[in-house]
Amino acid sequence: MTDLTRLRSLCVFCGASTGSDPAHLQAARRLGSAMAARNIRLVYGGGHVGLMGTVADAVLDGGGEVVGIIPEHLVRAEAAYREITELLVVDSMHTRKRAMFDRSDAFCVLPGGLGTMDETFEILTWKQLRLHDKPVILVNQNGYFDPLLGLIDSIIAQGFAHSDVARLYEVVADAEDVLDVAAAGLAASDSGRF
Ligand code: AMP
Repeated sequence: MTDLTRLRSLCVFCGASTGSDPAHLQAARRLGSAMAARNIRLVYGGGHVGLMGTVADAVLDGGGEVVGIIPEHLVRAEAAYREITELLVVDSMHTRKRAMFDRSDAFCVLPGGLGTMDETFEILTWKQLRLHDKPVILVNQNGYFDPLLGLIDSIIAQGFAHSDVARLYEVVADAEDVLDVAAAGLAASDSGRF
């Protein structure tokens, strides 16, 4: 098992819905359980809905820590999860994303909708612009991200991005691989190879 010493907190971006494939829900549960078992704090959007709520429940059920960051105007719509370790209510989406970034050692993306895509592309483009060097891992559960990965390939093929952008993220097929891959990415980043 990889040494996870440097990996203390993992930000999870994922749907405020559960989606139609029950495998996504199970992946969210497996990730949350693995995080609790390995004492990795969850940083997420603070809601008790969809895959977001599922990951948070799984971490709490396993005795782990959960930090949620939610903008004031979504407290009701996303059912702010008040029973987590720490719930921060902030003034805007921008403050939320910045706070999630500041508190996380690495980022993981589970299936989700437009909000998840927004968060994913922002963290990837910040990395492209060398504003950070933190690992970003896409969980390609049942091929969910195949169309997105295809779009990125097409963007590269048509000359709108360098082929190096494919090195901004790692893709895993199973949520259980996320922690090892994130830890390895952090170690590579420390040694200047990332
Ligand atoms: P979704 O993937 O659309 O279900 O949304 C997942 C999470 O992303 C929810 O907590 C949304 O509030 C959040 N979200 C939606 N749009 C944005 C945005 N522009 N910036 C940051 N988070 C967002």
